[in-house]
Amino acid sequence: MPDLFIDGHWVGARDGGRRTIVCPADGSEVADVDEGTEADTLAAIEAARRAFDTGPWPTTAPADRAALLGRVADLLQRDRATIARAESLDTGKRYVEGEYDVDDVTSVFRHYASVGADGTAAGQPQPVDVGRDDIVSTVVKEPVGVCSLITPWNYPLLQASWKVAPCLLAGNTFVLKPSEISPSTTIHLLRLLDEAGLPAGVGNLVLGAGAAVGGPLSSDPRVDLVSFTGGLATGKHLMRTAADTVKRVALELGGKNPNIVFADADLDAALDMALTAVFLHSGQVCSAGARLVIEEGVAEGFVDRLVERAEQIRLGGPFDDSAQTGPLTSAAHRAKVEAYVAAGVAEGARLRTGGRRPEGVAYEHGFYFLPTVFDQVTAGMSVAQEESFGPVLTVETFTTEEDALRIANDSIYGLAGAVWTSDEARAERVAARLRMGTVWVNDYHPYVPQAEWGGYKQSGIGRELGHVGLEEYQETKHIWRNTAPTVQGWFA
Ligand code: NAD
Repeated sequence: MPDLFIDGHWVGARDGGRRTIVCPADGSEVADVDEGTEADTLAAIEAARRAFDTGPWPTTAPADRAALLGRVADLLQRDRATIARAESLDTGKRYVEGEYDVDDVTSVFRHYASVGADGTAAGQPQPVDVGRDDIVSTVVKEPVGVCSLITPWNYPLLQASWKVAPCLLAGNTFVLKPSEISPSTTIHLLRLLDEAGLPAGVGNLVLGAGAAVGGPLSSDPRVDLVSFTGGLATGKHLMRTAADTVKRVALELGGKNPNIVFADADLDAALDMALTAVFLHSGQVCSAGARLVIEEGVAEGFVDRLVERAEQIRLGGPFDDSAQTGPLTSAAHRAKVEAYVAAGVAEGARLRTGGRRPEGVAYEHGFYFLPTVFDQVTAGMSVAQEESFGPVLTVETFTTEEDALRIANDSIYGLAGAVWTSDEARAERVAARLRMGTVWVNDYHPYVPQAEWGGYKQSGIGRELGHVGLEEYQETKHIWRNTAPTVQGWFA
């Protein structure tokens, strides 16, 4: 069956292009999919435009749009095992993490289904009291139009769900382009939308390499909004291109997230979570706690124990029950992480563990990299500033709260961060002064679809999830109706 979904039909790439998807755990072929070109994207945009301008979806009752999202949630759970397996094979993550992802995706669809169920949040008119009996003043929410949705490879289906669910609830049409290296579960999602009864042209899927297939997604005048999750350089490029036609732009970009530990914290819990913060999914998490910022007095013992624990982390493929985390996504990505580590060594950071590929036949054909810890890191080093998007932790120390805040905020990014302390007043002060879209206190990583997600500074523009994550996909219109027009005589 062909893999592109355009105007309600499953079609092959126009020029017959194909791409082999490999499992990062062992380099084996896991899928062979259509590889589109700009011509496919232009056809998808045309279909989405037509569906928006003349189709039923934008004017379908919000509660009916919400009901479709609820049906998709049920279908996701029906196909849970198949989707989890495909996600694990495409990304190399453990199967159990693939299962968590499907459950998370399901809750995103369920959340927006419930938000839209009574029709109000998704677009019922809100009356405005203007203090005049002859005026009916109403503010309405309307869909923005045709949306380009572009997603990365680390959490392919989850990132797609953060966009697709609110986009549809608001009544938009879309063209979705997943990362070319992990498209399988996004293809499955479009099959479920189709099965759930999404009208033709409302949801369209194109596949292929970013610049080759993605160009029109930000430049085509028929597109009204671009919502992108991915790297900083790509985000800047899309924003520049979208500026020519003044599209709305929503960007979820990278992070260089500090995990601040004060001496008065529960250090056992902080240590345990510091490992999860940075090494979950081998660090390929935009909110990874890649910078440990720890109070001087407890740093040495804490880091010694952390290094010991990091050395015990077992690497392996999706179906290796003893594995605790998996490989990097590709040989090219591993090469980037290796270059990043080499720069750290050259700049004088002390490599405490890792910094290389694991040895052994089990790892020969995969893109594995050992959990890596650098200490004696200082602010000016590239390892303290640049996102590695791999299993690399840097350690910086502080002596005062002010110092901790200065180090933590010293970044072009502002996605997420955490503070560990038993002092509630301090937790409140630090949380208030961290310039980040998410702050965890004595925790790391949880997110919920009810609360907004996104970045300050160069971590992005706009928010996904929560109520604001829906409003990203809505226009606001004020309608003023004069029920008793009279001659005013302004120009009499
Ligand atoms: P990337 O920027 O290389 O690619 C992201 C997507 O953009 C892919 O689908 C790619 O094909 C597409 N793309 C690339 N060039 C394009 C172009 N010219 N036109 C249209 N589309 C184009 O990023 P990646 O390597 O896939 O993902 C890793 C990055 O994503 C990291 O920086 C990470 O921090 C970030 N990320 C952020 C969040 C968040 O919520 N803030 C979540 C996940 C990942």
